Amino acid sequence: MEVTILGSGASLLSPDRVSSGLMVEIAGEPLIFDIGSGVLHRLSCSLQEITKIEHIFISHLHVDHVSDIFPLIQSLWLSGYDKTLNIYAPSIMQKIIEVTNEVFPYLSDKIKFKYHQLEPGFQVKTKNWNVLTFPVDHGDFEAYGFHIEAEGKRVVYSGDTAPSKEVVKAAKGADLLIHECSFPDRLKEIATTHTTPSDLGRLATEAEVKTLVIMHLYPELDEELGDALRSIRASFSGKIIVPRDTQIITL
Ligand SMILES: [Zn+2]
Ligand SMILES: [Zn+2]
Repeated sequence: MEVTILGSGASLLSPDRVSSGLMVEIAGEPLIFDIGSGVLHRLSCSLQEITKIEHIFISHLHVDHVSDIFPLIQSLWLSGYDKTLNIYAPSIMQKIIEVTNEVFPYLSDKIKFKYHQLEPGFQVKTKNWNVLTFPVDHGDFEAYGFHIEAEGKRVVYSGDTAPSKEVVKAAKGADLLIHECSFPDRLKEIATTHTTPSDLGRLATEAEVKTLVIMHLYPELDEELGDALRSIRASFSGKIIVPRDTQIITL
């Protein structure tokens, strides 16, 4: 299994980190998790044939996690896509699809796609992989994390969340926890719907994960990365990866 961090940034612009997105490749099949601004471009560097994509999971409907789905649909159409694109997303996605059809009618019938509404415990199982959805704590926003199991390995992606018991439960003993780490500890008061490094260190320790990947980094956290890593290290002794965009992690 290969995990490619397509976008490790958040909503504020950064030349090095585009918004959220990652790709998990299992036996050559790419699963996409979140597709924020810039992710499609990163994908063009990381995936030779974009038409191989059949499954996209959207953790929540903040723009920095979904906005590149529109250029993706256009790109797939222009690339001769003849499969069905499965979009797994919270309930508001249905409305977005309807509005897209109205605003961009030229795109409405160009590719086949199927919308699947996420809810806690929603699961997709194929012969090669299994993705299980769990709720996370992103304020009033409907938001989910994903537990991915394939080839005897377990990967958990938190999406955007404050420290969540649901993440700990899903990630218990996982090979890889990919978790948001939005703001430094000193901004904890404004990070009420996100996770800070100290909280993340405690969470990863409680979950007993082997390797922690941090993403959804705001520029403030990037600028104070040394402090952030020390804060995580204060409680977590496993491996920590601070990925660059398009970095591949092989399991
Ligand atoms: Zn976000
Ligand atoms: Zn969000």
